[in-house]
Amino acid sequence: MTADAAHPNQAACTRFSIARVVTNNCVEGDLLCGSLVVGAEVSLVPGGRQARITALQAAGATLSRAEPGSLLRVTFSTELPASVGALLAPAQQRPIAADQFQAELHWLGILPLLPGRNYVLQAAHRRVIAHISKLKCRLGIESEQIAATHLLQTESGLCNLALRQEIAFDPYTVNPATGVFTLHDSTSGERVATGKILHALRRASNVHWQATAVDKARRAAIKQQTPRVIWLTGLSASGKSTIANRLEQKLVSRSLHPYLLDGDNVRHGLNRDLGFTDADRVENIRRVAETAKLMLDAGLIVITSFISPFKAEREMARALFEPGEFIEVYVDTHLDVCEQRDPKGLYKKARAGEISNFTGFDSPYEAPEAPDIHLDTSQLSADQAADRILAYLDDLARDPA
Ligand code: ADP
Repeated sequence: MTADAAHPNQAACTRFSIARVVTNNCVEGDLLCGSLVVGAEVSLVPGGRQARITALQAAGATLSRAEPGSLLRVTFSTELPASVGALLAPAQQRPIAADQFQAELHWLGILPLLPGRNYVLQAAHRRVIAHISKLKCRLGIESEQIAATHLLQTESGLCNLALRQEIAFDPYTVNPATGVFTLHDSTSGERVATGKILHALRRASNVHWQATAVDKARRAAIKQQTPRVIWLTGLSASGKSTIANRLEQKLVSRSLHPYLLDGDNVRHGLNRDLGFTDADRVENIRRVAETAKLMLDAGLIVITSFISPFKAEREMARALFEPGEFIEVYVDTHLDVCEQRDPKGLYKKARAGEISNFTGFDSPYEAPEAPDIHLDTSQLSADQAADRILAYLDDLARDPA
């Protein structure tokens, strides 16, 4: 993280947001505040590289000084590794660059804010995946702090946000132009929150990814297999565990090394602290996806059997993997059929009101729209369904594209 000791006051501060990289030494974007003059030294944030402005153009006219208004083209004396969303600022008055900050959020989404879920954060031209790592409190009418586990539509709260990449910003009180952002649903794009940045948070600076001498490819080569994650999703009693078990047996009989991560089993250990609220379901799937990633890194063919009812979490899981590694399998069984099967008696309990937040009843299931494999269990036995997945894997091995 880089931060200036003394922050500029708003009037003196200049912030230019890059919308497009034209060439190695030319960008286009918006001057959010302040002014730019030809000959001035500017810094790129994040990054910190500096360059001198050699030309300014707006609406086809060449300028010696630019003020906020129309789209501006800026040319530099040297190459600058610019990227969309980065800020240009005076070298002596740089904004902060960080991937975690505390913010005041005003929630607009119809669905409640769920800590742990991925949202798209937009700040000027910057778009980055972010999640709320901690909801600290809800703010009451007189800004009093009230303990909360979620925020509902029109409620405000204080949160810590964690971003996939660093962005440049100023605290809202220092500079409102670069201290505001919006959050958007990662699937629909709908705006779910507006936010004001309060201050940057430091990531534990002593935690680094440790490179290992033996890598995923080497581990997989020893096993003579291509590591994959076969992600089964479907209603309770749709047949996920049954199909996953058959598949695991069939893979083992081909002398391959799979590992089945089963929803119920994981809830006995790793996730035993989690329940079935929406927030806990999000965290359940986040941990499972991270565990599957470690297993894939170990060279295994991972089969996961979790209801995983929300599209956003399945997409979050997919985003952890390389293209082709993550295979989404929709075990499509009608709710009525699941209820008739009811191998664990859960539907009976849900009907009797003994279980709440039950998927399909009082908790939603968002069916995949374009799964990699669609298993219609009214047409396929569990054995045939497992064979369908094997055939898909064989096709992938023949034609990886
Ligand atoms: P889930 O893991 O999705 O909760 P289970 O596999 O535990 O579901 O239970 C599904 C039940 O449905 C099992 O008793 C299984 O034998 C039965 N079943 C009937 N037909 C099928 C089918 N075509 N595919 C998978 N399971 C089926």
